[in-house]
Amino acid sequence: MIDVLVIGGGNAALCAALMAREAGASVLLLEAAPRAWRGGNSQHTRNLRCMHDGPQDVLVEAYPEEEFWQDLLKVTGGQTNEKLARLVIRASSSCRGWMRRHGVHFQPSLSGALHTARTNAFFMGGGKALVNAYYRSAENLGVQIRYDTPVADIELEDGRFVAAYVPAREVQGRQLPAERIEARTCVLAAGGFESNRQWLREAWGQNERGEWPSDNFLIRGTRFNDGVLLRRMIEQGADTIGDPTQAHMVAIDARAPLYDGGICTRIDCVSLGVVVNRDGQRFYDEGEDFWPKRYAIWGRLVAHQPGQVGFSIIDQKALGRFMPPVFPGATADSLEALAGLLGLPEQAFLETVHAYNKACQVGTFDHTRLDDCHTVSLEPVKSHWARPIDTPPYYGYPLRPGVTFTYLGLRTDETAAVHFDRRPSPNLFVAGEMMAGNVLGKGYTAGVGMSIGTAFGRIAGTSAAAAAGHEHPEKENRHDRETA
Ligand SMILES: Cc1cc2nc3c(=O)[nH]c(=O)nc-3n(C[C@H](O)[C@H](O)[C@H](O)COP(=O)(O)OP(=O)(O)OC[C@H]3O[C@@H](n4cnc5c(N)ncnc54)[C@H](O)[C@@H]3O)c2cc1C
Repeated sequence: MIDVLVIGGGNAALCAALMAREAGASVLLLEAAPRAWRGGNSQHTRNLRCMHDGPQDVLVEAYPEEEFWQDLLKVTGGQTNEKLARLVIRASSSCRGWMRRHGVHFQPSLSGALHTARTNAFFMGGGKALVNAYYRSAENLGVQIRYDTPVADIELEDGRFVAAYVPAREVQGRQLPAERIEARTCVLAAGGFESNRQWLREAWGQNERGEWPSDNFLIRGTRFNDGVLLRRMIEQGADTIGDPTQAHMVAIDARAPLYDGGICTRIDCVSLGVVVNRDGQRFYDEGEDFWPKRYAIWGRLVAHQPGQVGFSIIDQKALGRFMPPVFPGATADSLEALAGLLGLPEQAFLETVHAYNKACQVGTFDHTRLDDCHTVSLEPVKSHWARPIDTPPYYGYPLRPGVTFTYLGLRTDETAAVHFDRRPSPNLFVAGEMMAGNVLGKGYTAGVGMSIGTAFGRIAGTSAAAAAGHEHPEKENRHDRETA
């Protein structure tokens, strides 16, 4: 019988598999996706947030534990378990040496990614390269890997893992039989439920206009995170954490694919112009704060608009001041023509833009600080970077809510054990997005998803191997010190 069964194929699962294998356990990893799509949401990532007390290879200055903790406290509004959060923070300072040993390379912050050179270590080649490196290393170490293997259920006995069920399925024209896979211990690392459209519908419900808003959401990451295991665990009495209606949501290009659009579909020009809904009305302060601090509220703002759609409008003056989106915007030499191209009601749209233009009090425009360009006597106000939209050509980008991940997960502790009635399972562990809600009850701070997945993936792998009788040579609290 296999020692450690790992369910999932993203960052958390791979970290768990590698640690368990390093401890000497036999490991089988089951990934729902085919090989070409392996790696879940992790394949779309760019960086991980790291604590450090002084400059460290790709990281400048210092980002001490207390500052990281305060950042987390602020974004979560206190919905975080301090013990587990600090465990993640401390682990983030020492994990990179281990990551490097498994083939991950780092690079300094990209020039377009503001304010992150101090806090976030970027993966050379992005998350896809990280995932590929981990798979390569896992294969070399003898981890067995099976793709196209979605686990549909878990068999438990008094909170003890017994076996996983994989249903009969067709893979590349071949009919594969249903399977029951036993193992001594198991790590669940199968992501959130953001790709389960029915569950999103249940969570978001119907609005006052009779719409099902979530039907118009796009999923930024993998289609394979359908939450089937999360739901089965909840149905079998596992303790949960987090709110099913909470999800990290960004405003992305409405023309993005339904799944896997990734990072390049984000529209980053919101703060440089105005955003209107399909009725041609503005609905929020586009210049409230720096874009990196605000981008994650716009998915939800658009979700509350009729038809769950918005339009980011800029003029020629904004060009070159934001990360260019992957799809070109609709372009016109007049606002009337732009309204026509975007399907907006012309009269209402023109009134909105003219009212905004009239309300602009242009001071000294500076997109790198909270400048003094703002509107007066306009509802909603635009607090900064308010300049009239008056210089053709004009550009418009359609926006939709893009779900990054959901927050509902399984409650856990510092050993990564799944809990039933507040009692830890002796051989079932959880890592990554499936438990991130313990640390991140709501909100987000860039790079923390990978910090949580790396820390808890490694802990879960170590705990699972230990429960199967294999001690890891370097226990989590004795992690290798980072070397440059
Ligand atoms: C576009 C985008 C950009 C992001 N950028 C960053 C970033 O730069 N930094 C950061 O920290 N975070 C980022 N995130 C968030 C980050 O991706 C997640 O926090 C992290 O990847 C979670 O890792 P995970 O292993 O838990 O889940 P995932 O990487 O999503 O892996 C889940 C795995 O489980 C598999 N699976 C699902 N169901 C089953 C099943 N029933 N049986 C078997 N396998 C199953 C999936 O196929 C997948 O392989 C980003 C997310 C997106 C969508």
